[in-house]
Parts: sequence; structure tokens; C-alpha cells
Amino acid sequence: MGLIVQKFGGSSVANTERIFNVAHIVTETYQRGNNVVVVVSAQGDTTDDLIDKAAEINKSPSKREMDVLLSTGEQISIALLAMAIEKLGFPVVSLTGWQAGFLTDSNHGNSRIRSINSERLQKELDKRNIVIVAGFQGLNRYDDITTLGRGGSDTSAVAIAAELKADLCQIYTDVDGIYSADPRLVKTAQKMDEISYDEMLELATLGAQVLHNRSVEMAKKYNVNLEVLSSLERKPGTKVKEVVNVEKLLVRGVAKDRDVARIAVIGVPDQPGIAFKIFSLLAQRKVNVDIILQSIGRNNTKDISFTVAKGQEEQALTAINEIKDSIKAQEIVVDEHVCKVSIVGAGMQSNPGVAAKMFEALFEAGVNIQMISTSEIKISVLIHEDDDIKALNAVHDAFTFN
Ligand code: ASP
Ligand code: MG
Repeated sequence: MGLIVQKFGGSSVANTERIFNVAHIVTETYQRGNNVVVVVSAQGDTTDDLIDKAAEINKSPSKREMDVLLSTGEQISIALLAMAIEKLGFPVVSLTGWQAGFLTDSNHGNSRIRSINSERLQKELDKRNIVIVAGFQGLNRYDDITTLGRGGSDTSAVAIAAELKADLCQIYTDVDGIYSADPRLVKTAQKMDEISYDEMLELATLGAQVLHNRSVEMAKKYNVNLEVLSSLERKPGTKVKEVVNVEKLLVRGVAKDRDVARIAVIGVPDQPGIAFKIFSLLAQRKVNVDIILQSIGRNNTKDISFTVAKGQEEQALTAINEIKDSIKAQEIVVDEHVCKVSIVGAGMQSNPGVAAKMFEALFEAGVNIQMISTSEIKISVLIHEDDDIKALNAVHDAFTFN
């Protein structure tokens, strides 16, 4: 007998039929003798609908009230799933995030979990109850409701698994595992049996939509046995773990991210201190900078470009405009029509030629590269957003995934 944490995403609990489907998966796991903690997201598009509803009332509501609103979606799901499990005749109890002991910081809308007081959870498990917990939510130290950021239920599940030292944390979703690329966009995408935490973390951060990247970070930190699988088909999914057999496989996955913007600071004097001024100010303003490129311009000037997440470009622009005169910039240009395409794989650190192969594939597909960035296990390029699908397929097909 073990302890299993099962998380079901919004599409897995979208309607009554799906809720009963989940109830069956959960009770079968329980019947095999396991203790089961279930974490659920809000049904279907509930969270998006709530965001739209808020906007009808107030275009800029306080983040505190947004969290009060958004946390309701998950509360509906836990009650309905508990009722379905009651109906199947099993002992069950639903708990909100705060009842389950989630204490977070006060960063409303994107809070981090500080700790979990698992007393209540443990008490319910000791009674052999199936415990259903609302994902994505907690309380800060002032007892105000917080949420963990979009997709945060994955992180709730992994946090519980880490806290209770669960034997397994299963993330049920509407795809049957992690693919070498989004199978909806790349026909030749291959499902992986397993992937390392590091690779999964990069893929999640670089735009693969399957797991909340903080959940992977936490799984790695606490060595949580993670599995991503489908709630609709009963078959093995993808295991996420410390080390996997990479053998000849250089590249494990290709991801794209359109939520980026490029900012170019053009024609600054080619002298020391400029980059320092720009990026220290951006750091002060909490703007996360990703790819950076500096190039030599004409007449002893240089251009500095960088990318930020979409939504942060206004903040970045405001900051740079403040120092525009002092850094003698001629022009500041923002381009929102860009997309980042990345390849990820632990095997590429020791294999030269991977980058060349990626660039060749893009060249042959007629895709222009605007910026490049590399690390030991990933290479990212910035391209025009209209080329995204073409680039994704070209790069994917340049590497083998089996
Ligand atoms: N319901 C939240 C969202 O849509 C959290 C989650 O699904 O994990 O982002
Ligand atoms: Mg999700």
C-alpha cells in the first residue's frame, strides 16, 4: 500500500461525464489499497470565464479580489468530484487549499508556496478517506486568499506529494504524455517514455504547455516521482525523473513560445557601462530579460536588443525611456511579432554540431534567425512569429526522437 497524489486538469473535470470518469480512476486506485490525495483544477474554461467576468465589472481590480474570485473555480470542482465519489460509495472529503494547509507568500496572482501544514490532510488519510484538494490556491500570512499563477494546480499537487512523501504523483491531462513537440502542431512528434527533470523544466519554461514549470522545479528539488498521463485513455504516460537513458539522443524536445517581445536600443555609443545601465535598471524594475544581443553599429555606436515576456514590454520601455538621453540612445524599437523556438536535450552538452544542425534546418525552411541563445542543454532562436509552425516542424524533423 502506498500514497498516490493524482492531479486532474480542467479538461479532465469539464463536465459530469468527465467527473465520473475521474471518480472511477480515483476509486480504482483507492481500491488497490492506496491512500489517495486528489488535486483538481477549475472545470474547463472556468478560470478564463471568471477573468472575463471581472473585466466586465472593473478593468483593473485589485489582485486580492481577483484571487478571491479565481479561487472559486477550484472549489466548485472539489465539491462536485467529492459528490461523484460519494455516489460510487467511497469515503471522501473535499478540502480547499487553506483547509489543506497551503501557506503562500503575498504575491497575489502568482504566489509561491511557503509551506504546507499537512495535519488535516494526514488526519483524513488516517481515516482512510479519499481527500480531494482544490489546486492553485492558498492563504498568505494575513489569511487572505492567494493563487499560484495560471496552471498552478500542478504545483499544488507536487507540493502535496513532496510534503507527504508520496510514492507517486500522477498528473492527468488531455494528452497522453510529454511529446518531442506539440503533437497538434508537429505530426511527427513522438511520445517519450521518460524525461529528466532538467529537460522537462527547460521544456516547460520554453513554452511546452503540459506542466507548470514550478511544479517541475519542485519535483526535482524533492525528488518527487512524477508521471504525466491521459485521463481519457488508460495507458502509461511519461515519467519525469532524475536520470534517464539518453544514449545517442541529443535532442529530446522542441518548443515554441509566442509570448515574447523584442526590444532594441539602437545607436548607443560604443563605450563601457551602457549595458550595465540598461540591465540594472530593468532588474530594479523586476523585468525579466531573456535573450540579449549586442551588435556593432555604424560610427562607433552599438545596438543592444533583448527579449522579455509579453506583458512586460511596457514596463521595460518605460524604464529605458527614462535613461534614453543619458545613454544617448538614438531609437528604441519594440517588436511584438516574434516567437522563440528552442531545442532541449541533456545529450547536446557533449555533442558539437547540434546548433549547426538546427540553424541549417531553419535556413532550409527559409526562416530568418533574429537572435540566438545557448546553454548546456538548450538552444533558442528568435524568429518572426509567422514562421513559428514552419520552424517548429523543420527543427523537429532535423533530429531523431526514437
Ligand atoms: N484553474 C487555474 C488555471 O486555469 C489553475 C490550473 O488550471 O492549474 O490556470
Ligand atoms: Mg494545467
